[in-house]
Amino acid sequence: MSESNEPMTWNHTAQDEFFMQEALREAEAALERGDRPIGAVIVHNGQVIARGANTFTTGKSDIAHAELNALLRCTAYLQEHGHECVIYTTCEPCVMCLGAIIMANIRAIVFGMPDNYIEGRQVIQAVPYIGKRVHRYQGGVLQNECIQLFRRFSEAEAALCLQGKAPS
Ligand SMILES: [Zn+2]
Repeated sequence: MSESNEPMTWNHTAQDEFFMQEALREAEAALERGDRPIGAVIVHNGQVIARGANTFTTGKSDIAHAELNALLRCTAYLQEHGHECVIYTTCEPCVMCLGAIIMANIRAIVFGMPDNYIEGRQVIQAVPYIGKRVHRYQGGVLQNECIQLFRRFSEAEAALCLQGKAPS
């Protein structure tokens, strides 16, 4: 955590954009299936080791988030290498996924569009245990692409994420 107690952010790299494109592919596939277009990839040493997408609708599960689905596909790998992995997700993680990411020992979180409704970042600031374990918290990577894709699913839900309140 920075001294200002704000979640850490810094300029992202071309490699971040490359892996966010991979997460966007997962999100596009989710949209085609009828799920919320949120995708995630977990990266270790420049390699994608697991992918996930939201499966709320097709999986009939409100906890089937992209990040959680990706984590559950590589748990054994994460026991050994989690602390060296980066998770890329097209939307800022919710509190459930943030907790799961931390418990999986992943310390670097890169996302596209912010979620100003759930505001998972407030947990990083409020809970010292989590704050200490998040070493990188970077938003805004291919943000416009992530937002445009989400708006194709639901203008109202996109507005909820971006503005933090339901559109009037
Ligand atoms: Zn989530």
